[in-house]
Amino acid sequence: MAWVAQAGASTKVHEIISDNSFPLARALSILFGVMNPIVPDLPKPLRQRAQDSILQLRAAVAEYGNVCYANSLGSESMVLTDLIWESVPEIEIFSIDTGRLYPETYDLIERLQARYGRTLRIYYPDGEGVERWVDENGINGFRDGLEQRRSCCVVRKVEPFRRAVSGRGAWVTGIRRGQSASRALAAPVEWDGEYGLHKVSPLLDWSETEIWDYIRKRRLPYNTLHDSGFPSIGCAPCTRAVQPGEDERSGRWWWERGDSRECGLHPRARVAAALGGSPSH
Ligand code: SF4
Repeated sequence: MAWVAQAGASTKVHEIISDNSFPLARALSILFGVMNPIVPDLPKPLRQRAQDSILQLRAAVAEYGNVCYANSLGSESMVLTDLIWESVPEIEIFSIDTGRLYPETYDLIERLQARYGRTLRIYYPDGEGVERWVDENGINGFRDGLEQRRSCCVVRKVEPFRRAVSGRGAWVTGIRRGQSASRALAAPVEWDGEYGLHKVSPLLDWSETEIWDYIRKRRLPYNTLHDSGFPSIGCAPCTRAVQPGEDERSGRWWWERGDSRECGLHPRARVAAALGGSPSH
């Protein structure tokens, strides 16, 4: 609950928010959205943040044409999903079901789809690849070493991700500079040589407080695990709650060194690896 408390909330946000509790406000938002999508009910600084991000997303579509958003279903993803589905719907949103997600994450997918009346495209890992990996490494073999963990991420995340972005001009990610030392070095638009397309990060300058302010003001759905100490949520066996004040990413792959804790989808980690850190996969 630390990050919710930091954001100024006095109670669990999901307890006071119903995803469809303000249909009139939502209808008015869409009506006025012709001129000023989604943002009339936000305080000015947050409205400016949202408008800047929307402009970046629209610029990406204008520049690269076929743009997709890789939705990780974390708190930043709730903001980006709202910005995209309300204001830049030509961007396709997809998620990857690794097969090891928390039940709360599947519940969130349903609530998201109900709120927006849209379908989140889900990509799955290649079944034979998963079977082979488990056969060779064991069902939880990713805990046996960095190489095993990285290869599991390759099979369950990187392979379906590669298929999802294939043939596109750019992919959108919800990373923020405040999340980790490696992400602090990221740029709003980068060439992702690993996958052969541009990577656009419109939330880089958002703070954690702004993310949660936006979620509350817009009454967005979010993963209820955030109320139990999870700032970052990935696969269940590789994610845990953190203590107040700990780094956001410290709950992911906590048994590894800090500079190796990336899932393999972000090129900055690979650059850091080339400069002497541990590669992400
Ligand atoms: Fe495998 Fe863990 Fe990576 Fe998920 S986060 S793909 S379970 S190693």
